[in-house]
Amino acid sequence: AAKKSGKNCWRFYETTMQIEAYDKIRLINSLRHAIENQELSLHYQPQVDINGCTVGFEALLRWNSPEHGAISPTRFIPLAEQNGLIQKIGNWVLKEASQFARKLVNKGWGHIHVAVNVSPYQLCADHFIDDVRKALYSAGIEPNQLEIEITENALIESLEESTHILEKIQAMGIRMSLDDFGTGYSSLTYLQRLPVKTLKIDKAFIDMILTNKAQKAIIRTIIDMAHIMKMNVVAEGVETEIQIAYLAKCHCDLLQGYIISPPVPEAEAINFLSYCKK
Ligand code: C2E
Ligand code: MG
Ligand code: MG
Ligand code: MG
Repeated sequence: AAKKSGKNCWRFYETTMQIEAYDKIRLINSLRHAIENQELSLHYQPQVDINGCTVGFEALLRWNSPEHGAISPTRFIPLAEQNGLIQKIGNWVLKEASQFARKLVNKGWGHIHVAVNVSPYQLCADHFIDDVRKALYSAGIEPNQLEIEITENALIESLEESTHILEKIQAMGIRMSLDDFGTGYSSLTYLQRLPVKTLKIDKAFIDMILTNKAQKAIIRTIIDMAHIMKMNVVAEGVETEIQIAYLAKCHCDLLQGYIISPPVPEAEAINFLSYCKK
């Protein structure tokens, strides 16, 4: 039957590809106008210490398009990177997150940091440092209220260039964290050279606490190693009490995940703080 309809199958395949390409072009065109059309927003996910006290938030980008619906950043961020839109979008995120940090200051939560994901394309653009400075200045916040998250793989690919930029950012007093740690190829040697304050252990490792008894010792080792290097550790994607208990036993500094809170709109994030001492 496959042979008989072979030609039709191939034609069907070709059409699907054409539709996919067409969808992608439509998506990119919509994304081009997403900022002006006010379709982007930031959600904030709390980062809590072992006592459950919120010490920071991670800003996560949301795109709600009237035409395409809600689209995941895992889909549109790569599109933005491939089509030269990431600078503009990334800069919007920086400004918006800094404004949120300003609101926290106004409400007496000035010690709470706001972490922003930065794409390597954005980081390596000439005007990045300027953009950061402008975002801080126009929001009137202290540099240490802002944290910049870079993924491990992105850094290792252009280590020399990135290290140079990260040093500049560090000199400005901004915190830096290494996102998705454990999924890339960084070695201890690299880590010691990077001016990074925090390691974020990827969810894939945190999941091992539930599934893989032998490998969960790796988590303890990463945490110990980070502490020896004077770094803090955030566990990403914490979903159960069992994970919290193990992470507490390993002296993990901060927890982030659905069991604490999913990423939520700004107003909800601020409400979340009422459970916390000032
Ligand atoms: P990430 O920075 O590693 O963010 C963590 C992701 O895990 C977020 O997905 C978050 O919603 C999700 N998450 C948090 N806790 C849990 C949990 O307990 N269980 C599960 N299953 N997931 C959890 P999200 O918001 O879809 O973002 C995906 C990725 O998109 C981010 O990964 C980041 O790499 C990228 N991204 C998001 N916003 C931005 C942005 O403003 N700029 C850039 N360049 N990238 C962004
Ligand atoms: Mg992140
Ligand atoms: Mg991550
Ligand atoms: Mg990620």
